Amino acid sequence: MAEERVHVVEHRMAGLVPVVNSFIVEGQDLALIDTGLNDGSAGTIIKKLESLDHKFSEVDLCIITHAHRDHIGGLKALKATRQPFLIAAHDAEADEVEKATGLEVDLRLVDGQTVGGFTVVYLPGHTLGSVALLYGGTLIAGDALNGGGAELKGPNPMFSKDRDTAEASVRSLADLDFDRVLVGHGSGVQTGGKEALLRLIERMGEP
Ligand SMILES: [Zn+2]
Repeated sequence: MAEERVHVVEHRMAGLVPVVNSFIVEGQDLALIDTGLNDGSAGTIIKKLESLDHKFSEVDLCIITHAHRDHIGGLKALKATRQPFLIAAHDAEADEVEKATGLEVDLRLVDGQTVGGFTVVYLPGHTLGSVALLYGGTLIAGDALNGGGAELKGPNPMFSKDRDTAEASVRSLADLDFDRVLVGHGSGVQTGGKEALLRLIERMGEP
């Protein structure tokens, strides 16, 4: 099952309060999605890789869902290990990632592109170049969705650049097929994710 190969890495503030998730995917490539809060998050990711019987040197690809600090915080420390993994971000977000980290984005992604077994889903609004990644039946939504329990929420309006565009992006997800939804903040929905999305769209009402 594709779902079993997607692993959540929880990053905690001061080792206590869970703040943000990143993801390890054992797929066509060994890939990271996002990198957590700070230098320490790099260690958290490497430890999780080791618990899955991987070495960090096996990682081929790191896809950044968007350039907010809590998603790119560990990238510099990961790159400082000199392992030759590629950094990928949407074309509309890549400059922000480069500006914030001083690192080069190797792959500038576009909507619908396939990279490392993932399909890139462009979801602007939370930031200009936010993406989700579709991997088998799992949607890794970044901050384009939030959620805990059985329900999903839209992007946090307080931290989203363009609320209307962000809502339009949420609606556009109704065209995709998935069952599990993983999000940057919160637990996501392990099964029935598509139905949860449709309920969210219904709660959002007319555009
Ligand atoms: Zn964000």
